[in-house]
Amino acid sequence: MASSKIQRQNQHHQKHSQKQWSIQDFEIGKPLGKGKFGRVYLARELKNKFIVALKVIFKEQIEKYKLYHQLKREMEIQTGLRHPNVLRLYGWFQDDDRIYLILEYAHGGELYRQLRKTGHLSERQAATYIASLTQALAYCHGKDVIHRDIKPENLLLDHEGRLKIADFGWSVQSRSKRHTMCGTLDYLAPEMVENKAHDYAVDNWTLGVLCYEFLFGAPPFEAQSQTDTFRRIMKVDLRLPSTPHVSSEAENLISRLLVKDSSKRLSLQKIMEHPWITKNADPTGTCSKFNI
Ligand code: ATP
Ligand code: MG
Repeated sequence: MASSKIQRQNQHHQKHSQKQWSIQDFEIGKPLGKGKFGRVYLARELKNKFIVALKVIFKEQIEKYKLYHQLKREMEIQTGLRHPNVLRLYGWFQDDDRIYLILEYAHGGELYRQLRKTGHLSERQAATYIASLTQALAYCHGKDVIHRDIKPENLLLDHEGRLKIADFGWSVQSRSKRHTMCGTLDYLAPEMVENKAHDYAVDNWTLGVLCYEFLFGAPPFEAQSQTDTFRRIMKVDLRLPSTPHVSSEAENLISRLLVKDSSKRLSLQKIMEHPWITKNADPTGTCSKFNI
């Protein structure tokens, strides 16, 4: 059932795009990663030698978990987004068993890996990533897209160390308040964990969580159990360890984003104007190991 829907959608999609891709157009290289439903491979488009990442999803999985609508939404949303800090989806195609997403290749891999390797990031790196994320989110919110699943595993880096938001699986395109439970608890705003209506400001909360994690090495409401994390988020039980590598300006930004009342959180515009960002963020958005 789902696959026939996908087929119809693809026929419609192909009428409006120049090229009908197939697996024959690509040379498949090494595996890049594995997600819940897909495996991602390095690939080269044979004609133009263009390097991409090919995400392969088994239709059987999609059908089993009734995720057809979610995948379709992910593909439609990501196809329409063009921003230097949003991973491009160039197109997609299918065969009998699989759906293939042709994605921009992020040579630097997961930001998560870099974070785990070094424990925490420098203020310069952290501010550069937060500024890139803020700009990407401002762009997405301007197109009525709320990502809702921003976490280090879904943040990739290109060859210059530029941040790319990936994985729009949980994102929504809507002007109205939302009522869906989704995502990993650690990064979720109080209104999301309580399953209340939520809007764009959930992504602003997540920026606060990420900023904390980039600087201190672990998310702020981490606990032994999900219940304890839930309690800590609801209380906004924020503890800022005093360490010499984190300035009071960084702490100020974090505590103005991790605010329970979503309407009182710092706006994306105000984040870009915050002194910690203006002082520390690299305006080119790149911060490879050569220019930390
Ligand atoms: P989940 O829902 O569990 O996050 P997923 O099925 O949506 O997973 P992705 O997150 O898109 O899968 O990809 C899985 C992993 O593959 C990523 O975490 C990353 O390590 C790698 N990967 C994905 N896309 C790319 C890309 N464009 N360039 C380089 N590596 C990638
Ligand atoms: Mg992922």
